[in-house]
Amino acid sequence: MTITSLIEAKRILEAGQLLAIPTETVYGLAANGFDGNAIAKIYEVKNRPQFNPLILHSNSLERFQNWGVQLPELALKLAKIHSPGPITFVVPKSPQIPDIVTAGHSSVAIRIPNHALTLELLSMLNFPLAAPSANLSGTVSPTTAEHVNQQLGHLIGGVLDGGECTIGIESTIVSFVNPIPQLLRIGGLSVEAIEDVIGMPLDQSKLINNENPIAPGMLSKHYAPKTALRLGQPEDFLTNYKYSEMAFIGFNNFNKHLPLNHQFILSPEGNLAEAAQKLFAAIRQADELNVKLIVAEVFPNEYLGRAINDRLSRAAKN
Ligand code: AMP
Ligand code: MG
Repeated sequence: MTITSLIEAKRILEAGQLLAIPTETVYGLAANGFDGNAIAKIYEVKNRPQFNPLILHSNSLERFQNWGVQLPELALKLAKIHSPGPITFVVPKSPQIPDIVTAGHSSVAIRIPNHALTLELLSMLNFPLAAPSANLSGTVSPTTAEHVNQQLGHLIGGVLDGGECTIGIESTIVSFVNPIPQLLRIGGLSVEAIEDVIGMPLDQSKLINNENPIAPGMLSKHYAPKTALRLGQPEDFLTNYKYSEMAFIGFNNFNKHLPLNHQFILSPEGNLAEAAQKLFAAIRQADELNVKLIVAEVFPNEYLGRAINDRLSRAAKN
């Protein structure tokens, strides 16, 4: 059920139920971050592996500090400029935070989402919200309230409608547990923008595939549509598919010369942020066309193009 009232949203969360919330990145599936029973429902509804920790959301750093979570200096420096925003900080956990949030790890992931409605909701609550993306584990993340309703509407307390997500791709995750910050997930805040602020290169050796179970957001197969998705150009797949059996997802150029029935060109003006914002909705739409193959081209591998390529290469493992 879609709701628009913050009073109703608060009531659902205080009753220990799940509420899908809008953020600038993707819709989150939120529960009271201090209520272990409510959090257990997130894992159940999403069919999320128990070892995959959750991100805690609130509306200010001061509130996290009051819950015993301290940000190291470099994290503070970055937060001052880019929070609220699409950046998640992994920092030492405090005893107040239930172990189920962090899947038993001694660190906790925190974020201040940049969405007016959700910031207001967070300010009305006396607890943080634990919230992964509001989709079944392993599938494409939702960027509208309708996406959430289609998949999870019947299983949760409600969906707070805050419109279409403006960033459209999950947050970047950086761990500040060690002296050199480690990039754990590429996302909505570019590596370039982060390095600019912290004044040093991020350690990217922990960007994960299958070897490291700490971060299934990083498992090599994730974000997967039902239809096979492959990286390349339509002509690369002619041995096995006809053009009429393909949908194409590209950056800024229509394949005018090819007899393709379905083309999703994410930013005709060549803007990587716009392309990122439209990516998941395009994958969803392509998946509903009854084509046999979704072909996505590799995007320029810089700024948000890196996040797009990351999600596409995982989607291509289906
Ligand atoms: P999701 O909310 O689905 O985007 O997934 C949250 C992701 O945050 C997890 O898959 C991990 O990659 C990461 N994460 C959350 N908590 C921690 C933590 N304590 N240490 C490292 N990574 C974390
Ligand atoms: Mg997710």
